[in-house]
Amino acid sequence: MRVFACDHLDVPLPPGHRFPMEKYGRLRRALVSAGLLGPGEITPVEPAALEPLLAVHAPDYVTAVVERTLPAAAQRRIGLPCSEAFVDRARGSVAATLAATAAALEDGFAGNLSGGTHHAHRDFGAGYCAFNDLAIASRWLLDHGHARRVLIFDVDVHQGDGTAALFADEKRVFTCSVHGAANFPFRKVAGDLDVDLPDGTDDGAYLAAVERALAESLRRGRPDVVLVQGGVDPLEADRLGRLAVSAAGLYMRDLLILQTLRAAGLPTVYTLGGGYAEPIDATIEAHLGTYRAAREVFG
Ligand SMILES: [Zn+2]
Repeated sequence: MRVFACDHLDVPLPPGHRFPMEKYGRLRRALVSAGLLGPGEITPVEPAALEPLLAVHAPDYVTAVVERTLPAAAQRRIGLPCSEAFVDRARGSVAATLAATAAALEDGFAGNLSGGTHHAHRDFGAGYCAFNDLAIASRWLLDHGHARRVLIFDVDVHQGDGTAALFADEKRVFTCSVHGAANFPFRKVAGDLDVDLPDGTDDGAYLAAVERALAESLRRGRPDVVLVQGGVDPLEADRLGRLAVSAAGLYMRDLLILQTLRAAGLPTVYTLGGGYAEPIDATIEAHLGTYRAAREVFG
């Protein structure tokens, strides 16, 4: 199994910042110590080149982020200070999703231990997302003839508004988001299929919704490749989630998704997505469940 990581591109945050930057390195080490990934299965990546970013984002926006001339208000909307380290990390996360996408075409499954930055739009970032790795990888698949149609299946608790907006006019990319109705972003952007879940949704209702959404997405989207935003913030313990899904429920979700996509013979890329439990341990445990499910399905 090939998995890509960029947590070696460290981003020091100001004291008291609430973004759980330590999640990524801790998850990578936990996957190895749990025996779910061998150290040789995790490849560190370097920051992505500008070309794939420019295939999706506005040139002025990419330049402003990379040259660190983004206005303060635009940085506040991203929610992380756009330091040099942050820019390298954001580009690293894109590179990891691109590498995982290429690997999934050969292996059937591959993952990025970061990414899923679905709130990034064409010319602005938001909600901890600067560049939209899911959109960039989808565009790469289409532009290089690796797929005729792509499904982006987003089960993060927050709606994939950036992804939906970026592909509003692109019929070859089907965007599905299963998310909390009352959660960020408060002005949602309609994708091809949106499932709004009420606060407090539990395992049974959640799994039924995911199963229905995946079946409909496959039927209507007819993809050749699937990119999954596998956020674990629907977890009951999540401080931002508002849903009541258990760790076992999230494991069942990923098992259901992976079994369905494997049975359909579709190359599948998993990106990490959100997770904000405090302390972060419950989130890391839930992300481990994704790879437990991947091992079960792909060996
Ligand atoms: Zn989220």
